[in-house]
Amino acid sequence: MKLFSLWKFLGLRRKMVAHPMSLQGNHVDLQAVYDRLNRLYFSGRLKLTLSWFGNASRSVRSSRTLGSYNQVTRHIKIHRILDHPEIPSYFVDYVVYHEMVHHVCPPKRSLYGKRSVHHPKYQERERQFVGYCVAKAWEKKNLRQLLNARPIEELYGRA
Ligand SMILES: [Zn+2]
Repeated sequence: MKLFSLWKFLGLRRKMVAHPMSLQGNHVDLQAVYDRLNRLYFSGRLKLTLSWFGNASRSVRSSRTLGSYNQVTRHIKIHRILDHPEIPSYFVDYVVYHEMVHHVCPPKRSLYGKRSVHHPKYQERERQFVGYCVAKAWEKKNLRQLLNARPIEELYGRA
């Protein structure tokens, strides 16, 4: 591909990702979740972008994370596996909120230069999430299964 057409293609891709329609999943409207959390916890001040990533199918999954935040691009990515009727909405809220807090409580470096992402100030802010304990308990109970399920287990599980 010529450089110009590649550039055009990437530009088009970016527009597609940024399009609000792409945030509407089958069960979760990611933009609505973000807007509500922004209003509730950040006085509507955050100006971040979002997108889904990964595959909704548990069997085609290699990622080990449910969400991520990029400080440079100010972009939140949420795994499509959360766009599922079995996932409680408070847990989706919590994952999005967790990434939003990364924006207001960026990583710190200790005196020894060690990078700390979930430092005490971060944790303090994260605990302000209403339903934090319920969401953490759900995560503890279900995260391993969510991240480790193999296609074969799924097949046997449903047989
Ligand atoms: Zn984090």
